[in-house]
Amino acid sequence: MRLILLGAPGAGKGTVAKLLTAVDGSVQISTGDILRGAVKDGTELGKQAKAFMDAGDLVPDELIMGIMKERLQEDDCKAGFLLDGFPRTIPQAEQLKTLLADLSIELDAAVNLDVPRDVILDRLTTRRTCVGCGAIYNVKSMPPKVEGKCDKCGADVVQRDDETEEAISNRLDVYNEKTAPLTDFYRNEGMLMDVNSTSSDTVVAAIKEKLGI
Ligand code: ADP
Ligand code: ZN
Repeated sequence: MRLILLGAPGAGKGTVAKLLTAVDGSVQISTGDILRGAVKDGTELGKQAKAFMDAGDLVPDELIMGIMKERLQEDDCKAGFLLDGFPRTIPQAEQLKTLLADLSIELDAAVNLDVPRDVILDRLTTRRTCVGCGAIYNVKSMPPKVEGKCDKCGADVVQRDDETEEAISNRLDVYNEKTAPLTDFYRNEGMLMDVNSTSSDTVVAAIKEKLGI
């Protein structure tokens, strides 16, 4: 399947994407994970992105489009892909449309995960992330078996730099201003699928039903 996952930070895009990869081998492409990897590795991209990310601001469109143009042409994308955290602005969505047309790739849908703001805030402040493999935990509902250590790879499980209260509030403002308009964009393209459930399993079931798989 080839999907765009839309929704506020904390709406569950990453969790849903991971579940969907198990359905048909489509790959999850998370621009946030790619950027965090670049910061950790100290690459040129990472150096350019870090300050924006720590403040909860968006990284410039040119940087993101450069990453995605290459990523979408890698071999594993032939099995399908789940775009998690991209596009994030109208210019990114417009440029993605051109890029996909050039590559003769057709999307199945843009799925909007519509989750209430109080649920989002609660999830983001209690979320913890593995620095090694990116696995997501929650101190309340899904803590790692050993405190602070990843069940899967043993690396440290930490609160992200952009998950302070101030950065979270900025991320939600940025989302409302720059990313929320994408639902109208994809509605106009006839591609929008709205799902309002806080259960990832329910969201996955709805997507499978819609795509007939
Ligand atoms: P979230 O949990 O807020 O959805 P992500 O892990 O997707 O966060 O992204 C973390 C940060 O990486 C964002 O706050 C932003 O700085 C940057 N980022 C990720 N994807 C994009 C994008 N498509 N455009 C611009 N910035 C991005
Ligand atoms: Zn891990």
